[in-house]
Amino acid sequence: MQVGRMFGAIFVLVLVFGLCPSVFAQQSVRIPPADLMIVHAKVYTLDPNKPWAQSMAIRNGKIVAVGSELEVERYRGIGTKMIDAGGKLVLPGFTDCHVHFYPGSMSLRQPNLENATNVAEVVKILREYAAQHPGNDWIVARGWNYTIFAPDMLPNKKDLDAVFFDRPVFLEAYDSHAFWVNSKALSLAGVDKDTPDPRNGWIVHDPKTGEPTGALKEDADRLIRKVMPEPERVDKLIALRLGLKLANQNGITRVHSAGEDFAIVPLLQELRDEKQLSVRFHVAYRLSEYELRPLDLEAIESARKRFHDEWIDVNSVKFKLDGVVESHTAAFLEPYSDDPSTRGLLFWDPQKYKDAVTELDKRGWQLYTHAIGELAVRTALDAYESAAKRNHSKNHRQRIEHIETISADDIPRFGKLGVIASMQPLHSYPDADTLDVWAKAIGPERATRAWVWKSILDDGGHYAFGSDWPIVTLNPWEGIQTAVTRETKEGTPKGGFVASQRLTVAQAVEGYTLGAAYAGHREKTEGSLEPGKVADIIIVNKNIFEIDPHHISDTKVTTTIVGGKIVYEANPE
Ligand SMILES: [Zn+2]
Repeated sequence: MQVGRMFGAIFVLVLVFGLCPSVFAQQSVRIPPADLMIVHAKVYTLDPNKPWAQSMAIRNGKIVAVGSELEVERYRGIGTKMIDAGGKLVLPGFTDCHVHFYPGSMSLRQPNLENATNVAEVVKILREYAAQHPGNDWIVARGWNYTIFAPDMLPNKKDLDAVFFDRPVFLEAYDSHAFWVNSKALSLAGVDKDTPDPRNGWIVHDPKTGEPTGALKEDADRLIRKVMPEPERVDKLIALRLGLKLANQNGITRVHSAGEDFAIVPLLQELRDEKQLSVRFHVAYRLSEYELRPLDLEAIESARKRFHDEWIDVNSVKFKLDGVVESHTAAFLEPYSDDPSTRGLLFWDPQKYKDAVTELDKRGWQLYTHAIGELAVRTALDAYESAAKRNHSKNHRQRIEHIETISADDIPRFGKLGVIASMQPLHSYPDADTLDVWAKAIGPERATRAWVWKSILDDGGHYAFGSDWPIVTLNPWEGIQTAVTRETKEGTPKGGFVASQRLTVAQAVEGYTLGAAYAGHREKTEGSLEPGKVADIIIVNKNIFEIDPHHISDTKVTTTIVGGKIVYEANPE
């Protein structure tokens, strides 16, 4: 080999190897292009290390980059779909931590009685519905308010009988704790003056004749429901699709179902198989008989085996421990202020409740307990504490739903025991119902501890927010405004109802995002906008961090993305 040629070969080798690092470097930056990018945005990430960004890239349903326009630009490829947010606010998709999705969805196809201000209006709405849906099948609706029956606050069948004598009518109150039926419905159900009250349910009787008045409280609706025809499968699917659409319109990308949805999980799976499921579901099994029976255990264990992924997860069990303040069925330590004859009542035998909690906690289930009065809240905390001790369980994140009132002593126990406070800001909306009926029922002292999310947070506890749809709207922006202002939309009471509990906008948003993800054991994959998390993202038309908080409820979602797929886009304004 000639020296010159050898030098040439070495030179070539040096050239090749010398270049290598930069060649490799160039290859390492050639990253697979994003499927979707959002640019020109104000991204609120909820990542404490990087709370704000301008741009995001998404691939295979996951977030791959969040940062400045420049940082994210390199994810753009030929096939990348671009969303120009035009400077709008981008947030993680919202989780609604307390819904009754199936009844809510069904109600979208029924007459809505929420806005009726008197009985005549209810009857008018029903008449119109009946004219459009002739025949003799059941008329089912929800949403009536007690105040339309002042001063008794309870409905009577005669108003319905006058119009619907041969067609059964079943009308649920807005809070789902009372029901109004006509004589036809009562007779089909075989309910008369001799029918005994069912457990935790009350048939209201006329004091003179003893006849049922057509008003039913709490679980007495079951007497009627058992003779009501089950809706067709196709009707359920139509309703669920409407519910999914409504959720996405409101920026909801996951719900925690707090009862009544267990039976429709196979339908959710069907929608998922058809690529139509645009909301992720945690579903709780409801212990409707106030005991834990072998058949309950069988149902929940087999459901958990089947449904346990990021879309449909049956992982929780719901207890209803008391009723509501307005009807004096919420359980208190001391008597009601406006009726000293009662402290309300626990719907469960306390020992049975404790045993059921211990058994399910041992099996690793997450538990939801509906508890509104301070006695119910304490009973739930006691049972969770004792179960954790007995089972040596950690991080089960057992939950209490509602917590409308609480003893001061119990506030720090949420943080100490790791129990989640699952609360619904709109239930604290300080209108006449809350201030005149709710607050008067419990008196001024207890009312100082109304919906104390801020105190629970300050004492190291976790809170998560939801709606309780269909009892109130699914719209979370109204919830945020209420949590931040504790005032009505009209600005009353000035400064806020129990103003010490007002949250910042960021804290309220956290209740529907990262806090909600934590409540569902999903904070590693959901709840904030960070690489590696699911691409559940919303774009909204107002920067709620900058506007007057009294206008947050006007916020509209312009785009909802679930798993990297656009599932809702508003018409351009
Ligand atoms: Zn509920």
